[in-house]
Amino acid sequence: MEKQTQTYKFKAEVKQLLDILTHSLYTNREIFLRELISNSSDALEKLHFETLSGTEVVDSKLPLEIQITLDKDKNIITIADSGIGMTDKEITKNIGTIAKSGTADFLKKAAGSKEESSTIIGKFGVGFYSVFMVADEVVITSRSFQKDEKPVQWRSEGEGTFEIQSLTKKTPRGTSIEIHLKEDAKEFIEKYKIEEVVKKHSNFIPFPIKIDKEQINKVRAIWREPKFQIKKEEYDEFYKFLTYDSETPLDTLHVAIDAPVQYSSLMFIPAKNLDWMGSSELEKGLDLYVKRVLIQHEYKEVLPEYLRFMQGVVDSEDIPLNISRETLQENQVITKIRLNLVTQILSHLAKMAKDDNEKYTKFWKEYARQFKLGYSDYQNKDKFSDLLRFNSSATEKEEDLIAFEDYISRFKPDQKEIYYIFAQNRDAILSNPHLEIFKIKGLEVLYLYDPIDEFVMESMNKYKEYDLVSVEKVDLNRIENYADQKEKKETKKLSSDDVKVFDKLLRRMKDILGEKVTDVVESKRLTTSPSCLVTPDGTMTSGMQKIMQLMNKDMSIPQRIMEINKDHLLVRNLLTIYKKDVNDPHFIRVTEQLYESSLLLEGYLNDAHIMVNRIEDLLENSTEWYIKTLTDNVKSEKNKK
Ligand code: ADP
Ligand code: MG
Repeated sequence: MEKQTQTYKFKAEVKQLLDILTHSLYTNREIFLRELISNSSDALEKLHFETLSGTEVVDSKLPLEIQITLDKDKNIITIADSGIGMTDKEITKNIGTIAKSGTADFLKKAAGSKEESSTIIGKFGVGFYSVFMVADEVVITSRSFQKDEKPVQWRSEGEGTFEIQSLTKKTPRGTSIEIHLKEDAKEFIEKYKIEEVVKKHSNFIPFPIKIDKEQINKVRAIWREPKFQIKKEEYDEFYKFLTYDSETPLDTLHVAIDAPVQYSSLMFIPAKNLDWMGSSELEKGLDLYVKRVLIQHEYKEVLPEYLRFMQGVVDSEDIPLNISRETLQENQVITKIRLNLVTQILSHLAKMAKDDNEKYTKFWKEYARQFKLGYSDYQNKDKFSDLLRFNSSATEKEEDLIAFEDYISRFKPDQKEIYYIFAQNRDAILSNPHLEIFKIKGLEVLYLYDPIDEFVMESMNKYKEYDLVSVEKVDLNRIENYADQKEKKETKKLSSDDVKVFDKLLRRMKDILGEKVTDVVESKRLTTSPSCLVTPDGTMTSGMQKIMQLMNKDMSIPQRIMEINKDHLLVRNLLTIYKKDVNDPHFIRVTEQLYESSLLLEGYLNDAHIMVNRIEDLLENSTEWYIKTLTDNVKSEKNKK
């Protein structure tokens, strides 16, 4: 004989909650399954703990698992676990009140607002009650693990009351929840649907979840297991399961942290940058779990942009299970995890760079672009800048890489600056006139090829106590003091008269070029080129200027200072011409040509027509003169005979 049934009224706040859950439309009803499964998982974990502590439990041979059965005829889903179960007192206490503080206040507010219900569900733990989003009747049968307790049944239609009765019939240990599906929730009676939802949210629950006897969750949540127990193959397999990548990852990072915040994380660096199209949509973020239950797939906020090439999962016990997307962002735990993850990843990369240069180089080739965005992470500036790599004048090939530390180890005595130059490629850099003085002085220069590099250098400004200085902006007086390492081609010094004429020549050149240049001055940096263009003090480097111009769709040519190499043979010839006739047309043409050649080198020459015509003119002249020398030579040969 069954005992008498008792009917109870739900507490006011539960009633309010149920009203919201049963009478609104939901976008995210499937989470009821996640809630019930994680309750079952908790109950199983508690039972496991009791067994380990030596407590005598009922039905001690029962396997620890979760069984889902689907009765299509009656539209009933049953979720049964062999967990700790509940006594009748417990069931009244646990399911019938909402323990969480502030819930009542919250509900009053929520009931008055038009806020979407799934947000409400997310904002606090409604757990079990979410089942009433899909059910018009729920029957719980539970049997406590304690020997002398009777099984109990709880029943409610989710309206205002629930009934409880003790059972005398034999019931296995644990809790079974019978869900009578609402007319509009029949989709959940389909096996594929339930399977899909279980795999999405509950794939890593540590107990078998079976649907009509078939186990659904087969992949272990290895991120929660101790590192030393996991084999490389298991990591790789998990990675492939997670990313659908067929290649094994370049690297694996597994961390378990207890303070200042508890979390464990398993992250991978894919061998190939999956972001190959440069689309930011492909940066994924980590899957966020709370005790093995998926809360947010590919959650970006848990990593800063520059580290979002990492793929994997992060799991914390300190986050409430029912947290919503909105509240996640304000969550202090997330902020702490993020800060800690960044430190972990940067230290890991530093270790990789130290122990396995080949691997680090691979990493750099794939991810440097994205990684460099870390220049804005001021908190980790030192760690970040130690991980940067550059090509440099001290290396042989364009692919060779060095770190700031390598550069510093080759500092000249008293050197306080790190020099860099930017261009499309190594050949373009090597023919850049700005580099000449550095070659002569034997000063190392970092070679930058990626437009973002200049941003990085400009905004970092310093590495440790050393200034980062573009060769275009270098203070030449400072590097004058270093001894020449290479011999300059010695040219005869100009007489003091000629020095004065040279000054006039420079002014004449400025007249010819007019507004195109801010000034024409003698160069201290040139040895092999006759001229170059430099940015006036304090303005941007040409690379930065180009980026800004691109952004502003500005096609104008920036005003520069033209520098002239007094010792270059071409310039000496010009001096001779100038001394003969200050208005000589050939002098004018050569001056214009020098300016445009420099523009061309800097990548600013928009229209080459005028220049090509001028060069043809100049070539015509020079070939004539050349023929003349040829005939002169022939004549003198004849004369010799
Ligand atoms: P929460 O899980 O956040 O505590 P729930 O509303 O999901 O909130 O569940 C309320 C309580 O009901 C749980 O704390 C637990 O004590 C009890 N409970 C729910 N489901 C089960 C179950 N399957 N087995 C044993 N106890 C359960
Ligand atoms: Mg719960």
